[in-house]
This record gives sequence, C-alpha cells and structure tokens, in this order.
Amino acid sequence: RAKALGKARHEIFDFSMYSQAAQLLQLEMDLRRAVERQEFQVHYQPIVSLETYKIIGFEALVRWQHPQHGLVSPERFISLAEETGLIVPIGYWVLREACRQMRAWQLEFPAHPPLTISVNISSKQFCQPNLIEQIHQILQDTGLEASSLKLEITETVLMENYESATAMLLQLQEMNIQLHLDDFGIGYSSLSYLHRFPSSALKIDRSFVINIGANGKNLEIVQAIISLAHSLNIDVIAEGVETMDQLRQLQIKKCKHAQGYIFSQPLDSQSVDTLIASSLPFKLN
Ligand code: C2E
Ligand code: MG
Ligand code: MG
Ligand code: MG
Repeated sequence: RAKALGKARHEIFDFSMYSQAAQLLQLEMDLRRAVERQEFQVHYQPIVSLETYKIIGFEALVRWQHPQHGLVSPERFISLAEETGLIVPIGYWVLREACRQMRAWQLEFPAHPPLTISVNISSKQFCQPNLIEQIHQILQDTGLEASSLKLEITETVLMENYESATAMLLQLQEMNIQLHLDDFGIGYSSLSYLHRFPSSALKIDRSFVINIGANGKNLEIVQAIISLAHSLNIDVIAEGVETMDQLRQLQIKKCKHAQGYIFSQPLDSQSVDTLIASSLPFKLN
C-alpha cells in the first residue's frame, strides 16, 4: 500500500511540477524585492480619436525591469502580485508615477482639452479602505486635475465587492474622476450591472476587436456594445486595434476612440515625448 502510494505520489509530483512550484516561489521572492527596490517602469499607450486621429490620452501599463530577465510583461506577474497583495504597493507606485508624468506632459504640451491618463486598478487595490484618501494625496502631490485621471476597473471588481465598490465609485464620481470598464464583454454579467454603476466609458476587449475585419464573426457583437453604450450615454474605446480593416469597421459603427498597435505599442516616457512633439495627429495609409 505504502509502495503504491509512494509510486502514485511520485507520478503526480513529477519534476516539471516541482520546477514550476520552485519557479513561482522564486518569482514571488523576486517580486517582493522589486517592490522594495522599485524595479518597475510605466509604459504608455496612446488612446486616439477615430474622428481626428489625435491622441486624447494614454493608458499607463506597468513593466518590471528584472535584474536578470530584463523587461517583464504584466501578464507574467500581475496575478501573482494580486494573490500576494503586492499589487497594492505596486498599484500605488504606478498611479503616482503616471499622474506625475501626465502632469509634466500637460505642462510641456498644452492641449485643449488636456491629455488624460488611464490607470488600471486591480480588485485588491480597489478594496483598500484608504483608496480615496491615497488618490486624493497623489493628485495633490502631483498637481494633476482629477478630471485628467481615468481609472480602469473590470467587472470582477464590482462583483467581488458589490456594496463597498458602489460606495467607492460614487465617491470617485464626486471627485470628478472618470471610471472606465476594462475588458468589456468577456465577463458574466456585463449587461446587468451597466446601469447601476457610474461609468463613463467601456473598453471593448481585444478578443472581440480581433474578429471584426472582413466578415468577422464579432462584428455584430461589437456593433451591439457600441449601440448600447451610446444609448446609455457612455463612451466607447476599442482595444487592440491592429488592422486598417478593423479600424474602418469601428469608424462605420461610430466608435469614437481606439487604442492598438495600428497607432502605437505602449512606449517608454521618452518615446512618448518624441511622439507628442512630432506626430499629432496620426497619419494612416
Ligand atoms: P489591459 O488593461 O486590458 O491593457 C491592454 C493590453 O493590451 C496591454 O497589454 C497592451 O499592451 C495590449 N495591447 C494594446 N493594443 C494591442 C494590440 O493592438 N495588439 C495586441 N496584441 N495587444 C495590444 P500589457 O501592457 O501586457 O498589459 C496586460 C494587462 O496587465 C492589462 O490589460 C492589465 O489588465 C494588466 N496591467 C497592466 N498594467 C497594470 C497596472 O499598473 N496595474 C494593474 N492592476 N494591472 C495592470
Ligand atoms: Mg486597461
Ligand atoms: Mg483592457
Ligand atoms: Mg484586455
């Protein structure tokens, strides 16, 4: 019996799993060190008007400058950061840095209306009782107007903490901070909560945008999301636009804003400087 168990155990706990667990533990230790040493950077992806092709703002996207592995994408560490709670200090660092940088760009490149900054807020961070206080402090320290800040949250945030989330959203609205629903369409209850929360824009998830070119199967869905948003007086931003075909369909469907590689990948702050200074508006072939 013991032998059988030992064998079974041996089969389940194979070497590849061992190395996965060890890797995860190593990643967690690295991430803790990264928070202490502030090994993060913020990259910025333009959000563009589909009427003028002008940049209206940027989304702040965190990267981790790992001493051995180089620049690590958030896809590889955000979920671990959430599980370990490290997303809270990381998130505040990103928020502060993004607000500081946007204020600097606004002063350097005055535009009417002013450029805005969109920052992703994770579920864990959204539950922090002092979130409002922290945001208030960051805006005060950096000099950024609340109306220039947009917080991107997903419906998970709303579903996991319905009561406190509602209260939080109302306070943010009172402060004049816009709320954008990220990754819209891929969740479970997208439609039912829409009218209950004071959001000012929906970001159509990239997985839908991929299939809207020439007879793409998601065109009707995207059309429906846009119509719904318009009837609720909510703005729409299409994520992950890569082709001219996708862009044309979105324009036909009266989607006002887009973000994607067709305009630009996320850029470091120096490249954004050059971009704002030189190529407003975008020119596409
Ligand atoms: P997201 O908020 O939905 O951000 C959009 C993601 O799509 C970004 O990936 C962006 O680089 C990518 N993207 C934009 N346009 C295109 C395109 O045309 N083609 C393709 N293939 N991809 C495109 P990124 O930077 O890797 O971030 C992934 C996710 O990590 C974000 O998805 C967000 O959920 C999370 N994240 C990033 N930064 C932060 C942060 O500071 N805090 C939190 N809580 N989450 C973050
Ligand atoms: Mg986002
Ligand atoms: Mg998104
Ligand atoms: Mg997404």
